[in-house]
Amino acid sequence: MQELSHFIGGKRVAGKSGRFADVWNPATGEVQAKVPLASKDELDAAVAAAAEAQPRWGATNPQRRARVMMEFVRLINRDMEKLAEALSREHGKTLPDAKGDIQRGLEVVEFCIGAPHLLKGEFTDSAGPGIDMYSMRQPLGVVAGITPFNFPAMIPMWKMAPALACGNAFILKPSERDPSVPLMLAELLQEAGLPDGVLQVVNGDKEVVDAILDNRTVMAVGFVGSTPIAEYIYSRGCANGKRVQCFGGAKNHMIVMPDADMDQAADALVGAGYGAAGERCMAISVAVPVGDKTADALIEKLVPRIEKLKVGPYTDGNDVDYGPLVTPQAKERVLSLVQSGIDQGAELVVDGRNFNLQGYEQGFFVGPHLFDRVTTEMDIYRQEIFGPVLSQVRAGSYEDALRVAMDNEYGNGVAIFTRDGDTARDFAHRVNVGMIGVNVPIPVPLAYHTFGGWKKSGFGDLNQHGTDSFRFYTRTKTVTSRWPSGLKEGGEFYFRAMD
Ligand code: NAD
Repeated sequence: MQELSHFIGGKRVAGKSGRFADVWNPATGEVQAKVPLASKDELDAAVAAAAEAQPRWGATNPQRRARVMMEFVRLINRDMEKLAEALSREHGKTLPDAKGDIQRGLEVVEFCIGAPHLLKGEFTDSAGPGIDMYSMRQPLGVVAGITPFNFPAMIPMWKMAPALACGNAFILKPSERDPSVPLMLAELLQEAGLPDGVLQVVNGDKEVVDAILDNRTVMAVGFVGSTPIAEYIYSRGCANGKRVQCFGGAKNHMIVMPDADMDQAADALVGAGYGAAGERCMAISVAVPVGDKTADALIEKLVPRIEKLKVGPYTDGNDVDYGPLVTPQAKERVLSLVQSGIDQGAELVVDGRNFNLQGYEQGFFVGPHLFDRVTTEMDIYRQEIFGPVLSQVRAGSYEDALRVAMDNEYGNGVAIFTRDGDTARDFAHRVNVGMIGVNVPIPVPLAYHTFGGWKKSGFGDLNQHGTDSFRFYTRTKTVTSRWPSGLKEGGEFYFRAMD
């Protein structure tokens, strides 16, 4: 059995705690590796080493730091196939989807090559007689990122690239379910020229997360994962005086207006609902057609498309639509939520419970499910299912549909499908959700915009990537400077306004 490691001081380091977690191959149902779960002492040592390495890295000029990012981009492209294979093997997603996961991370690294421009400060010449004022952005020191299983390449890159480009040292605590790609990325960064100790990958579970939150040297924590853990990390991190941003779970709606192109809407729903087996924070899990006629038409279009979906292991080629869930527990949870939907009176239009794949009977596959006549009181509506289950909530009018999305406690993404510009514009302005798609089902902003949800999908005041990430990972220092022209004056005892 393969034993994975941490990445500390520029090399792979075996775990010392004696505690391990299983890493599955979700397609076969076998445990393929063990990942060490670090202790508080291991974390504290990794932070102390990072704190030693950071001042030199922070003093390296931004252009040189950006060059490390440039080389990192080249190396990721060089190793794309290898990274995608490792990602699919541990996560279960298809190879094209694994490459998308890497690509969306890579694009943030590309954005970070602009660090010299993004870190430029502000300057006011002659703010007063002989007085100049300037603000600079300085790194925080040692910062940390705690990331989820569902994007094991993209989200670690969203966290570490801006943090490192800003001159910080970074502690990455990836998901214990698929830790191989983050370790490979750390090696590539080192090959790209990142000095030893500036990036430490410390694997683990709650014990190491708590150690990060309580470590006084760690100045900021960026988290992505489920909402209960996001709330916990946000409150404990803030209570310890850290800068914290946490991105949580989601329940994303797609409003389908009667004037929408139904084929386009059905295609979008199938891709956004079942892609990656529904294990995406931007997956559409609720369709909200306006009017019964629209709802019936949508079901008619959806059913044949769903029945055609090809579910299988990533090794079966590029025409597989989605793979298994990540763990046996995830499969069990999804199936029990499906049962609750049936028990609470939703209409199961497509039943994926008895899905079986010859040769992969032990894999964590779940067939696609479609529920109609779901109400907002049901558990399948209230909970984030994170599986291949699409629910249809029928709305009587546009205002009703808008209210469904607005009353939901999550606010990550939402989409509207319509041919009417006025409706689309009204929706985008009024809905209380962070990322909106107009005839676009998964509106994930590109690297140079920012990504973040509202309500229980996001905690903290800055988003991920884009310019916000450069704000999050730096702090502002403002200098007021005067070079007297020779005459010394006495002290002043009033709060001076600039003349
Ligand atoms: P998770 O919350 O179980 O785990 C996320 C991280 O927190 C992991 O590194 C894990 O080790 C750690 N963790 C787990 N339990 C902990 C505990 N009790 N105390 C401290 N740390 C703990 O999430 P997941 O299952 O890995 O990922 C799926 C979730 O992430 C979904 O809810 C999904 O919507 C969300 N997600 C959100 C975004 C976003 O940007 N909003 C993006 C991707 C995923």
